Amino acid sequence: MKINQRIKMLSPSSTLAITARAKELKAQGADIVNFAAGEPDFNTPVYIQEAGIEAIRNGQTRYTPSVGTVDLRKQIALKFKRDNNIDYDVNQLAVSCGAKHSLYCAIQVLADEGDEVLIPSPFWVSYPEMVKLAGATPKYIQTTADRDFKITPDQLEKAITDKTRILILNSPSNPTGSVYGKNELEKIAEICVAKDIMVISDEIYEKLIYDVSEYISIASLNKEIYDRTITVNGVSKAYAMTGWRIGYAGGPKLAMDYLKNFQDHTTSNPSSISQAAALKALQSPEDEIMLMRDEFKSRRDLMMTLLDDIHISYVRPQGAFYMFCDLSFLGDSNKTAQAILNDVNVALIPGDGFGAPGYVRLSFATSKERIREGIKRISSWISRR
Ligand code: PMP
Ligand code: GLU
Repeated sequence: MKINQRIKMLSPSSTLAITARAKELKAQGADIVNFAAGEPDFNTPVYIQEAGIEAIRNGQTRYTPSVGTVDLRKQIALKFKRDNNIDYDVNQLAVSCGAKHSLYCAIQVLADEGDEVLIPSPFWVSYPEMVKLAGATPKYIQTTADRDFKITPDQLEKAITDKTRILILNSPSNPTGSVYGKNELEKIAEICVAKDIMVISDEIYEKLIYDVSEYISIASLNKEIYDRTITVNGVSKAYAMTGWRIGYAGGPKLAMDYLKNFQDHTTSNPSSISQAAALKALQSPEDEIMLMRDEFKSRRDLMMTLLDDIHISYVRPQGAFYMFCDLSFLGDSNKTAQAILNDVNVALIPGDGFGAPGYVRLSFATSKERIREGIKRISSWISRR
């Protein structure tokens, strides 16, 4: 059988594979501590569930425009204005089947054969694969723990060649939890404008920030960078709605027109029912969302204390729900993660898929009781070696 060359280049998603393996072992009765999870462990808030049920009952069960209902896009426009100070018109917005899908569409629309796409490393596992699927080449900018895993203006300038077309930014970052401040983004924006580089800004963890007082979206900084940015967000992480599959993107009208055409011929609309639930999520007061955020913060603090106690180093995550830990003293992180899962039933994700061998990602989207138990097991596993 002949398989398409681009598809043949794809590797499986390590995050999805290990999360699935952990769930499978748990279903078989194993007492797994799941530090692999890339999703909130909370259920979708009841008022959002009800909106989905109501949508089914009142007949919102047909096709919608391929980029989402006008009502939902109007609400997303309000959200971008309210939370991010970005002005997007309804026809500059597209709702997709999860932020992953929004990112995929944005990359397909912007990246061409032969183009280079800059990706700060460590990176979320799917960016390079999406870039390769578009026929473009991922180019990594290696960040370091002593700079909180953030790129510097100097690094960005040096990485740009005459083939560079796009920079993918992810703040808060999966897997490192780092968050870019206003000054840092201003410098990045200045370079991208000067070199005429597009930015795809993945803001899916926007609501989950801990030590930072204000979240800044790069597109809000000035008109020049606004014209060169596609901003991606969604309801998965903030509203505990990963299974509903709703993400969205806003950007320059020209790019968004093509993105609409792309969705017209590929997926059509994301689920009408999920769109109704997402509308409710974005319309409602955020008290429950902030309670989940506070719980994540308190779990992060607990995990940091427990890791400090056993002398495992990490960079303090300012957002998202991951701790990116340096376990290079244990050798190959794939083997370490496999052994920890086999020997003490703790699932974590090796750093290799994020471009950071030697590291592992521990998710704190699990209860404090499980966090204590998991770190205890890891500690005893390390001391028995
Ligand atoms: N970006 C990042 C950095 C993520 O971690 C995720 C989680 N899978 C996504 C995008 C995609 O989110 P969604 O579930 O909305 O597709
Ligand atoms: N974003 C999550 C993670 O990184 C979910 C899994 C995925 O979509 O890759 O674990």
